[in-house]
Amino acid sequence: MGVVKCPVCDGDVNVATDVMEGELLTCADCGIELEVTSLSPLAVEEAPEVQEDWGE
Ligand SMILES: [Zn+2]
Repeated sequence: MGVVKCPVCDGDVNVATDVMEGELLTCADCGIELEVTSLSPLAVEEAPEVQEDWGE
């Protein structure tokens, strides 16, 4: 699909053409995990550090 700007380091992050909303990407520059929040327009946000931790 293209390239999106990392919100943390402003680096370019490659996004696959078949990316799905909610998919996690890793920024090659700063190593942070990014979650795809929108496909049109393409947008990402910093993924929460703790995942799958919704249990009590
Ligand atoms: Zn980054």
